Amino acid sequence: MAAATDCIFCKIAEGVIPAHRVWEDDRALAFLDINPLAAGHTLLIPKLHAADIRDIDPELAAFLFLQAPKLAKAVQQATSADGVNILQNTGAAAGQAVFHLHIHFIPRFEGDGLGYRWNAGQYGAGEVEEMLSKIQGKLG
Ligand code: 5GP
Ligand code: ZN
Repeated sequence: MAAATDCIFCKIAEGVIPAHRVWEDDRALAFLDINPLAAGHTLLIPKLHAADIRDIDPELAAFLFLQAPKLAKAVQQATSADGVNILQNTGAAAGQAVFHLHIHFIPRFEGDGLGYRWNAGQYGAGEVEEMLSKIQGKLG
């Protein structure tokens, strides 16, 4: 998909809007988040516009994730973090605010207080089988 004219991350990819560029090649760009959850918080984007993970060529998604080990390691080592969250918000309900696919690399520290409630539930009788067949039916 071509660059979306009103998309801030397309503008960053094109260099129209400045960003602190961590790494890039012809297909992808990593840059520092302007409002970091912790110093070193990095975003990885495809240079081609895609709204979210549902909207991207799987080959490009694979290419993005190929960059994840080195980025996670660099962010962790540079910040001396205890861990890293790799996060991709898909849809406003999931916390997505910028609708150009991006993967967060967030340095995490023991006791940093970040996180969200993981309200784990349980399936009722028969529900897991029903859900399984629904999801599998959408895989095609
Ligand atoms: P989302 O909530 O969509 O998963 O995350 C969007 C992220 O993009 C946020 O963490 C936000 O701070 C970051 N962000 C939004 N606008 C800009 C910008 O203009 N420059 C940079 N570097 N980061 C941005
Ligand atoms: Zn875009």
